[in-house]
Amino acid sequence: MTKKKVILEAVLFCLVLLLLFLSAFLTFYLVSQDSLEGNIRSISAVAEKIFDGNDSSTGEETVSYFDDAGDYRVSIITKSHDDYQILYDSDGMLQSDALAEELQPENLGKFITRKSSYGYNMVYYAVRDREKPDYFIRVSVAESVATSVSRNFLIYGCLVMVILMGGYIVFKYRDYNRSVKPLRDQVERLLYLAGYPADRLGSGEDLALIADSIDEVSSELDRKITDLQNEKEKTKMILDSMSQAFLAVSGDGEIVLFNRKASEMFGYSEKEALHKDYHILSAGEDFSAHVEKCLKERKDGRHFDIQMNGRTYQCNVMALNFPWIDQVRNGAAILVMDVTEERNLVKIKTDFFANASHELKTPLTSILGYQEMLENGLLSTDEEKQDAVRMTIKEAKKMREMLSDMLTISRLENGIRKEKSDVEISSLVQSLLDDMQPKIRENNVSIDLKLEEYHVQADRGDIEKIFSNLIDNAIKYNRPNGMISIEMNARDRYITVSDTGIGIKEEHLSRIFERFYRVDNSKTLKNVEGTGLGLAIIKHICQKYGYRIEVRSTFGQGTTFILRT
Ligand code: ADP
Repeated sequence: MTKKKVILEAVLFCLVLLLLFLSAFLTFYLVSQDSLEGNIRSISAVAEKIFDGNDSSTGEETVSYFDDAGDYRVSIITKSHDDYQILYDSDGMLQSDALAEELQPENLGKFITRKSSYGYNMVYYAVRDREKPDYFIRVSVAESVATSVSRNFLIYGCLVMVILMGGYIVFKYRDYNRSVKPLRDQVERLLYLAGYPADRLGSGEDLALIADSIDEVSSELDRKITDLQNEKEKTKMILDSMSQAFLAVSGDGEIVLFNRKASEMFGYSEKEALHKDYHILSAGEDFSAHVEKCLKERKDGRHFDIQMNGRTYQCNVMALNFPWIDQVRNGAAILVMDVTEERNLVKIKTDFFANASHELKTPLTSILGYQEMLENGLLSTDEEKQDAVRMTIKEAKKMREMLSDMLTISRLENGIRKEKSDVEISSLVQSLLDDMQPKIRENNVSIDLKLEEYHVQADRGDIEKIFSNLIDNAIKYNRPNGMISIEMNARDRYITVSDTGIGIKEEHLSRIFERFYRVDNSKTLKNVEGTGLGLAIIKHICQKYGYRIEVRSTFGQGTTFILRT
């Protein structure tokens, strides 16, 4: 239904009503006219019957018979010369009436309306007396009386009609407002939501147009819902692929977002965590206090560390000052990162500097001591002086060795890349052993080799460092007449370096790869020099290439290092 239709219907209804009324009025008018004319005719017929020619008594009798005929006036008229003379009259008006059109021969028996001698219109009807044709019987009635019934009908009829039409229009309008208008308003709202311009429906209120718009809007909304779902899935995928835990809580502390990493960290699935209070995460008092503060003050918090399951996590709590959900107008987003390695690295670096300064200080103190003794002339003999020079050189070499190892570690930690090339390890080991012959002989150890061609893609210097450190340790921590075995298995990709030396106690095994970690072997071995960095360098090189280094040792019997490439 449209507004136009409603108006059209109302107009049609009014027209039909008007038509009905007019025809009713016409019928009524004609009927009342008929009955008026019938009345006049019968009065005139009765008057003609009663009147008996020129007899004055019957004339008087006739009109007086109609004295109480209400609005009807009966006159008996005769013609003298050109004038008409009223002889008798029921109203007592006896003056002549020259204008008597109704008395003209052609008008006799007809109804004539003309202005009367009273000054207003009257309807006249005249007939000749049958016995005496010189006499006329005339019946008249005021026009207003003749039409009063119809006029009243017209007035009251119109009034009723206006009421009916008004009632109908009001009913129709209310009906329209109750049905089509709310529908149109809803559709307009939906169109707006679907992104159509505000005047999309125009002034149209056609149900067909509204139905079309509903179709359009529903397919548009369908599309938008699918888009939204896709967007939601995309966002979820991105959040789930994050390496940090990300969660969000509403202003009243309800978890409203929880990514996959958060599930891993806090041990709750997304389903278990969503819509629960964030306190269920049991991340410690510090965590709760920071989140609570952020929700209360609606300001980003400073990042802080928490400990969970033996690991260190850095948390950032950010204020979300927008309607996250309807009732609660703010919230907080929490980013949790596993920073265990970073924090350990910082600690390692701090320890490294402390240890390095300490380790460098010892030889430097010796050097300074010898030099001061020389300067102050405390060493008198040539032999003492030569000893001091020898010791100074030895300590300086130790410092150089330590600095060189520290530089190597720093280079490895900073990930400085070197060109890789094919390195054949058996020949490399052979050449290292040749270089170390003096030391081997000095320590009186024998070498047992089971070498085979063994290729790796690496920096030659790095591989040299692994084997020079392993062989050097195997010589240093061996016994007199001890043995060193080097065995290669190219098929299974491992190389072992074993010795029959002093061995390493169980409790030290897990720590010997730490920087500056040295086992106190002073009871078993004298004057074994070292920086405590050799195995740390090997560990770094292995990490760089994805190799593995293992150690097996029996205290007092010997040690085996296995390098898996
Ligand atoms: P260092 O310069 O002291 O040799 P490393 O890092 O090479 O430093 O070795 C760390 C510690 O591990 C040594 O101090 C030593 O106690 C122990 N170690 C290493 N290799 C052997 C081995 N082959 N036999 C016994 N102990 C060893």
